[in-house]
Amino acid sequence: MLDVSIIRRALLQWYRKHKRDLPWRRTEDPYRIWISEIMLQQTRVAAVIPYYERFLTLYPNAGALAAAPEQELLAAWAGLGYYSRARNLQKAARSIVELPQFPRDYAALRQLPGVGDYTAAAVASIAFGMPHAVLDGNVLRVLSRLVAERGDIKSRNIRAGLRSLAETLLDRKRPGEFNQALMELGATVCVPKQPLCGDCPVRPHCQARQQGLENQLPFNGVRPIAGRQELHLLAIERAGKILLWQRPADSPRLAGFWELPERAQAPGATLHGELAEFRHTIVNTTYLVQVYRASLRSSLSGFLWLDKAGLGNVPLSTIAKKALILIA
Ligand code: SF4
Repeated sequence: MLDVSIIRRALLQWYRKHKRDLPWRRTEDPYRIWISEIMLQQTRVAAVIPYYERFLTLYPNAGALAAAPEQELLAAWAGLGYYSRARNLQKAARSIVELPQFPRDYAALRQLPGVGDYTAAAVASIAFGMPHAVLDGNVLRVLSRLVAERGDIKSRNIRAGLRSLAETLLDRKRPGEFNQALMELGATVCVPKQPLCGDCPVRPHCQARQQGLENQLPFNGVRPIAGRQELHLLAIERAGKILLWQRPADSPRLAGFWELPERAQAPGATLHGELAEFRHTIVNTTYLVQVYRASLRSSLSGFLWLDKAGLGNVPLSTIAKKALILIA
């Protein structure tokens, strides 16, 4: 079960401290925010900045954009590519100038040419504080890792699940800031290859990280190259009992199954030598599992002492089963 309020708080605190200073983050003008969102759709942040500033000098409001000669507009856009974006911007600007004010809600924004679900949610939340969660590539990646979603993120069902998770996580008091925080995390820390988990504010809650799957997820229909992971397990025994933990009921994998503690889960444990070593493959990852005898001075929250003799009566993961057989 995700601790929504803790995740929200951690993410917002991190964002306030680490967000990049970008020109469109210094404005509350919906027109400027909309222009930035359209420019960023298929173009990197660094490439957008000079275009954004020049474009807004030429066309500081919807009226100026609506009145721009097409050739001049396309010249201002030249280099950003995907010229339909510029044409749609102008069409939208011409609709906006007919309205009493800039469209202020999701449905009205969604009516504008070139504005899809993502852009409508982004502008509604950032410019108007409306509670709409955004779901772009960065957000999909962060969320699929957070819950260790193994399904294909291109599939409709999986996306619907991740959308509902985004809505659940959304901070309804600060939707714009929260959406930007999630996107910023995906853009700068939870990056596609080799995510920087050491710098991540939600690492303690990240199931992909806990399962060593952060480099395998998200799954996008193409099987990633088989990976190798090391897994260090601890055998901590006392008076015929052994310390184990149970996967929560909503765990995406092996819900309710029991596992031996991993080294990272018990940083205070003292190791007394290796007991066993074996390989185990799950989906496309081969784990090199090393089991150590260990002891603990203090108790470990979230773990239980189970009778070794009764372990046949509880569901054990295959890795835990293999390890227990080898060390018996
Ligand atoms: Fe992404 Fe790593 Fe953070 Fe998980 S811990 S959300 S994989 S950066």
